Amino acid sequence: MNITKSHLHVEFPRNVHFECSLCALCCGDTETNVRKILLLKKEAEKISKKTRKDIESFAEKINDKAPYAYVMRKTNSGKCVFLKGKLCIVYDTRPLICRFYPFKIDNLGNQHYTFSYTKECPGIGRGPQLKRKFFETLFAELISLMKKIVQ
Ligand code: SF4
Repeated sequence: MNITKSHLHVEFPRNVHFECSLCALCCGDTETNVRKILLLKKEAEKISKKTRKDIESFAEKINDKAPYAYVMRKTNSGKCVFLKGKLCIVYDTRPLICRFYPFKIDNLGNQHYTFSYTKECPGIGRGPQLKRKFFETLFAELISLMKKIVQ
């Protein structure tokens, strides 16, 4: 299904049911996946302000994944440094990549975007069927953050 707004074209999956199971699987490495929790510079600054921690204490600078500027550090067990038990202690300021999970969006060029999702998330297949509004909201968050970056 599509969201078409003036020059933007966004495709999103149909008939997907999703409800977060609060399992925190997305907050660390799994047997099959090494998790890269990428952060935009603005996001790292926001977490630093909230936690009063230097960015370097929780994230590593990267140069090969623009627009992302940092990757979150993980514990020896491969979990995000902000995961305590199954709780995210920076939930309100968690990065966009966490807000999107298990969904991701690919920029196909020419203002054409497409959403996809990973079936590794146990929340897929549970709960209500996702409607257009769900993806519109995620997309709006992305656009608003990207606008802040270019300011
Ligand atoms: S920032 Fe929060 S939601 Fe994101 S990976 Fe870390 S603990 Fe999980």
